[in-house]
Amino acid sequence: MIRKTKAACQIGMYGLGPMGRSLALNFADHGYSVATYNFTADLTWQLMSVPGLASLVTPFFNERDFVAGLRQPRTVMIMVKSGAPVDEVLDRLLPMLDPGDVIIEGGNSDFRDTARRQRSVNEKGVMYIGSGVSGGEEGARRGPSLMPGGNVEAWPVVKEMLQAIAARNQQGRPCCEWIGPEGAGHFVKTHHNGIEYGVMQIIGEVCWFMRALGMSNDEIADAMDNWNETLKAFLLEITADVLRAQDDDGSPLLDHVLDVAGAKGTGAGTVVSALDLGQSVNILAAGVAARLMSKNRRRRRLEIRDLYQLPEPALAGGHEEWAAKLGPALEAAFALAYAQGFTTLEEASMQYGWGLNLPQIASIWGGGCIIRADILNEISAAYTANPTLDTLLVAPAFVECIRRGVPALREVVSAAVLAGLPVPAMNSALSNFDSMRSPNLVLAGVIALLRDLFGAHTFQRNDRPGVFHRDWSKG
Ligand code: NDP
Repeated sequence: MIRKTKAACQIGMYGLGPMGRSLALNFADHGYSVATYNFTADLTWQLMSVPGLASLVTPFFNERDFVAGLRQPRTVMIMVKSGAPVDEVLDRLLPMLDPGDVIIEGGNSDFRDTARRQRSVNEKGVMYIGSGVSGGEEGARRGPSLMPGGNVEAWPVVKEMLQAIAARNQQGRPCCEWIGPEGAGHFVKTHHNGIEYGVMQIIGEVCWFMRALGMSNDEIADAMDNWNETLKAFLLEITADVLRAQDDDGSPLLDHVLDVAGAKGTGAGTVVSALDLGQSVNILAAGVAARLMSKNRRRRRLEIRDLYQLPEPALAGGHEEWAAKLGPALEAAFALAYAQGFTTLEEASMQYGWGLNLPQIASIWGGGCIIRADILNEISAAYTANPTLDTLLVAPAFVECIRRGVPALREVVSAAVLAGLPVPAMNSALSNFDSMRSPNLVLAGVIALLRDLFGAHTFQRNDRPGVFHRDWSKG
């Protein structure tokens, strides 16, 4: 049975997966009337069975009724699987929309696809917003971090609604502000996820290090709680939760989980788009690569494990002694990972001419999203104090944190490497820092000469300006 709307709905939600359903309910909680639609009926029936479903939510079972149920000019939010499904939905919806209507596409779309879709939708006079949405299902339900970009003319139309459902940061400001033109919103969301990959990898490595020391899951969870008192990072908080989670028989759930980590592509998207901008995001890339490695379990990892028959990595040393080093090491690695993400945003802003407001982005990420942490307050303050800041590594708060943490990070990485324990993100963080601070990147000089020898690619000198080529045939 379809419930009839008395008045046309203020927003339409197309796609009722975990995110679309939660956002629809969130809009209704804030007093907005929502029309909903899902391509197949199952998820609509599921929504209708939600106990006490707000009268402000009106489910529809066909697209034409759904569009007809919207107040004009219409606002439709699309929350479907990213990629081809978004284009298919747009192809079906667009003929039913009119000039002045607004489409908000909130999936994890590639920013180039968003720019392309905006151009095509604009041809019909319909405005397009590609919005990053962060916070997972719970965030979408209770208050996500939102990163809208695209047609700025559409911002006044949707601003009040989007800011109403967004999370609030520590300063009480909505975690939703206009990001920039074209695919800027989705670019920023992708890089949020890239930082998330890096930070999760660092946390995973620290957990494994502590397990290799012989610490129990509860002891590791206690250490996470302890560090989180100062870092206030959501990912540390939930790491303690997953470490303490028990299976039905009371045993630690983690001990029963297959060692395979999934990925939906935003981490890889971060790395590719950073490389396109000439930026190294080696810490974030380590997180992407490690997940891909874990998925090779059947094809390669088991075969290699059986062939080499090595023992589980074990580390010597007292738990408290190592915990005292792991805290500052983790903090420094976090700082280097966030810095890498923001450097790419800054580069994208310049190269694409988006005019990204970095303090505001840090502030939007201060609540609702997965990488929310107190470090974002430092980042916002650093870019506010110096809007032309080239890298966070020279911001005073970062200098202090990195100076304090790098000696410990070096000890942790060295011990892990000697024990055969992979720590690619922490190692990448250290290598990134050591490369950045190096007075002379000798390896780059070697590579420059090799390129000149085999390909006449030329090199530069450190004692005079210009571009040089050596005649290598003379020996
Ligand atoms: P899914 O990514 O699992 O997508 C499921 C939804 O997509 C269903 O409504 C499904 O409809 C619809 N869909 C798939 N193919 C088509 C198609 N060809 N035509 C119409 N509808 C289609 O759902 P989520 O809610 O998890 O995510 C939605 C978007 O939000 C994705 O882009 C995701 O990456 C992004 N996102 C997800 C987060 C999360 O934590 N889950 C966090 C932030 C963003 P049907 O039921 O008919 O198959």
